[in-house]
Amino acid sequence: MYDLHLHSTYSDGDWQPDKLLAEATERGLAGIALTDHNGSWGLAEAALSAADHNLAFVEGVEVSALHEHLDVHVLGYARSFDRQVLSDGLATTRQGSEARAQEILKLCQRAGYGDIRFEQVVAKRSAQEAPCYLSYDVATLLTEVYGLSVREARSLTVTGGPCSVPYGEWALSPGAAIDLIHASGGVAVLAHPGTVARDHSWEDFTDLLKVMRASGLDGVEVYHPFHSASLVRQLKSLLNHSGLLLTGGSDWHGYGRYDDFDFGRFGVDDKGWQQLQKLLQ
Ligand SMILES: [Zn+2]
Ligand SMILES: [Zn+2]
Repeated sequence: MYDLHLHSTYSDGDWQPDKLLAEATERGLAGIALTDHNGSWGLAEAALSAADHNLAFVEGVEVSALHEHLDVHVLGYARSFDRQVLSDGLATTRQGSEARAQEILKLCQRAGYGDIRFEQVVAKRSAQEAPCYLSYDVATLLTEVYGLSVREARSLTVTGGPCSVPYGEWALSPGAAIDLIHASGGVAVLAHPGTVARDHSWEDFTDLLKVMRASGLDGVEVYHPFHSASLVRQLKSLLNHSGLLLTGGSDWHGYGRYDDFDFGRFGVDDKGWQQLQKLLQ
């Protein structure tokens, strides 16, 4: 099994890249991809660690995009991204995410959590050059300062919560995200489409898929903890003979983050890995 969707401390995950690789070894995985949000900070470290652990590794990124009213995540995979192209192309996304995190923080302050400050968020990411601040950073402060559980804090700040803020004009369109990933030397995969189907409708998903295919989408993440067995079947029958790569991953962030997330339990087999490698040539 190859888990192709993992987050580290370089975005909103709890584990450093080396810990991810150590756990992957422990659990008998053959390889992984690191897919932090909107940046490539941890990739070099993860690649070195993968070599140390004798595991297969592919570079990844998860780009925040906006299609009409839908928040869309686009995964990118590459043997080696052009870091400069990727970073430049995501500069506006990082700035927009920072403004969004500040807005979320203000809403939390108004909701009675007045003791949290944006400087505390910034301090958390002081080791990163041009970091991307996320709603999770604000939620982390709520857990630290007010003793809320991760779940309680997240329920305030994620989509639908009283302190949530939708993606803004700053977000790339899915087509622009695909173009950027291609320009950086990668292939583009629609992440966890089940969230679109769940939060909106199956038609919204198929419309989005059409738009993204017209923009050169390379694959769809089919195996994901949010996806029920029946959704996986539905996706597979829809994508059968589509020529799109079917990928998967656990979207692991850390313990206690979501209900059923389980590191290394979702991914692709050898065949799926080989198909990805072929596309990356
Ligand atoms: Zn995502
Ligand atoms: Zn993710």
